[in-house]
Amino acid sequence: MARHRNVRGYNYDEDFDDDDLYGHSVEDDYGISPATAAQFIYSKRNRHQSFTEPLEEEHEDDEHMETKAADIALSSVDQARLYSCLDHMREVLGESVSEQVMIDAVLQCKFDQAKALDLIFQQDCNKNLNSATNDLASFGRLSKGKTRELPSPETQYEIVPKIAKMIISGKKQTMGFDIPSAAPEQNGQTFNSYMKGQAVVEAVDEMDNASQNAQTSNTSQIQEDLNSTPNLGKNTSKSKQKINIKEELEKRQGGKPLLNLVVIGHVDAGKSTLMGHLLYLLGHVNKRTMHKYEQESKKAGKASFAYAWVLDETGEERQRGVTMDVGMTKFETKSKVITLMDAPGHKDFIPNMITGAAQADVAILVVDASRGEFEAGFEAGGQTREHALLVRSLGVTQLAVVVNKMDQVNWQQDRFREVTSKLGSFLKQAGFKESDVSYVPTSGLSGENMIKKSTISELTSWYKGPCLIEQIDSFKAPQRSVEKPFRLCASDVFKDQGSGFCVTGKIEAGFVQVGDRLFTMPPNETCTVKGITLHDEAVDWAAAGDHVSLTLTGMDIIKINVGCVFCCPNEPIKACTRFRARILVFNFEVPITQGFPVIIHYQTVSEPATIKKLISILHKSTGEVVKKRPKCLTKGMNAIVELQTQRPIALELYKDFKELGRFMLRYSGSSIAAGVVTEIKE
Ligand code: GDP
Repeated sequence: MARHRNVRGYNYDEDFDDDDLYGHSVEDDYGISPATAAQFIYSKRNRHQSFTEPLEEEHEDDEHMETKAADIALSSVDQARLYSCLDHMREVLGESVSEQVMIDAVLQCKFDQAKALDLIFQQDCNKNLNSATNDLASFGRLSKGKTRELPSPETQYEIVPKIAKMIISGKKQTMGFDIPSAAPEQNGQTFNSYMKGQAVVEAVDEMDNASQNAQTSNTSQIQEDLNSTPNLGKNTSKSKQKINIKEELEKRQGGKPLLNLVVIGHVDAGKSTLMGHLLYLLGHVNKRTMHKYEQESKKAGKASFAYAWVLDETGEERQRGVTMDVGMTKFETKSKVITLMDAPGHKDFIPNMITGAAQADVAILVVDASRGEFEAGFEAGGQTREHALLVRSLGVTQLAVVVNKMDQVNWQQDRFREVTSKLGSFLKQAGFKESDVSYVPTSGLSGENMIKKSTISELTSWYKGPCLIEQIDSFKAPQRSVEKPFRLCASDVFKDQGSGFCVTGKIEAGFVQVGDRLFTMPPNETCTVKGITLHDEAVDWAAAGDHVSLTLTGMDIIKINVGCVFCCPNEPIKACTRFRARILVFNFEVPITQGFPVIIHYQTVSEPATIKKLISILHKSTGEVVKKRPKCLTKGMNAIVELQTQRPIALELYKDFKELGRFMLRYSGSSIAAGVVTEIKE
């Protein structure tokens, strides 16, 4: 998992204690427009919808006469809505529920198919819960006939999934689903296990202990888990094999470790051209397609952008000649599998760039060697510095600097030296170790020094180092904590062709298998993994570090947004609106006072927040409190602050999960501080 890997898993103290290295002496004030922050803000409406539905009517269907959809006196619009709901519900329920029950549910829930499904599951589960509680009571562990209380919205945050694992098994038997033959898992993802025999007894023991204090709430959890079980659908009827994730990872891709690489740099430095050309030279773009790009870009009057079009896929990106979104592609080097993310350089798209950088292990910083151009990117208003600082703050420690467009300066060594020495001292101040930064001269347009060492005498006379692909290959592979609880922060959500929907994102921790149930925060609900796609291929499992697309069922797509965290139901992520953090203020001229409004950029989330309290100022090197309750914070300061968001965000403590415990603060289009979560309040 990313937060524990060598590359990004650097010491907490390293970040903040070594003030000579980290985040200081950054001289400019980055002028960035806040244009796109809003697009990341996720809505948490309908958060508790499915749990707050009234259930009193659930036995009413006994009294109903058998009804057909066509027989019901409804307006033609409502009739159509009814049919549409029934179609969708049939996809989830198959033939397990009669049409009449579905019609009743749809009408009761006013044509809201998600609610109707919930209602049906709840009705069914209620029956089975009674049966399950009876079974348990016969063990003498749980008193019979506990009232069914659905969890309040608040208690959804406190699900104790240990109990759930037993119920899954009990539920599956009583619900009449196929009983999976897979043995119980021992690896922590026990919610996904199907327990039998002895395992059930153990689970009952656990439940007994837990239930002594909180029987009612446990019952609620049981019911919730029961409720969600039918959503497993047909998919889980084929038994899920327990996998040894470490062995599988070794086997996969011939044992080549996976590396997430983000390409950053000022707009027009040549990032897309460089990477597009690299992909072409590596054989990832066939000649015909490249020819097509050349023709089309010529027609559009942008012939020099042909290679950039390999990565800039949208019409608008091509039209404007700038990368807006984070493009993602896979390629292989001698010893690694690389997921390449081409981040936008334009200042308007910094939030997108942060999203890309948050998911990266290592970075390539592209600078334009041309006279005047390097300076424009490096000085105030340029993105070279801000990008470097952002990736470092987001945990990237290894950096390859590509000094691009060397053809423009006749491959002069002096110019290369000038650029690298200016950058070198800045990168040191930004917190990069000299040994972790390398410099490669290239021409992205001509393809020089990219996959083969250059033969141009002007360059070979003074440069003997590696070419770009060799440099990428020499990045140290990060260690992934695949054994930690599953975490994935959604970077995209879209509708699938089938009944479910898809989310994409990088698995930050743990692993996921088809058929797993996942907990989502927000909206505090569970769903089932119906399919996993890794680099456009359907796979049965994926692990920390993988950029995947998950096809999910059992949850309404409208409840899911970019920024939702999918996690292991056993150990779900916490959501809060108030937390404390240690922040490092960048070179920001405005003093930060209590009540200061900021935008928190966290993984794929951007959320408005305020600095609620200034707790203390810390000594930059020792971390000791120098001043309690300061009136304001100024540039270069290290401080503990309390942040308040309007809506809950799912966070982790930095000490537990590095990637999910770091964030950036921006104000009025400028990055003003980097922070790590030290305490989650509420
Ligand atoms: P990005 O904004 O950093 O992705 O930059 P692009 O890849 O879109 O390139 C911007 C412009 O620089 C395009 O016109 C490219 O053709 C040009 N360019 C990119 N790399 C080189 C290079 O190595 N040499 C020269 N002369 N031009 C380049």
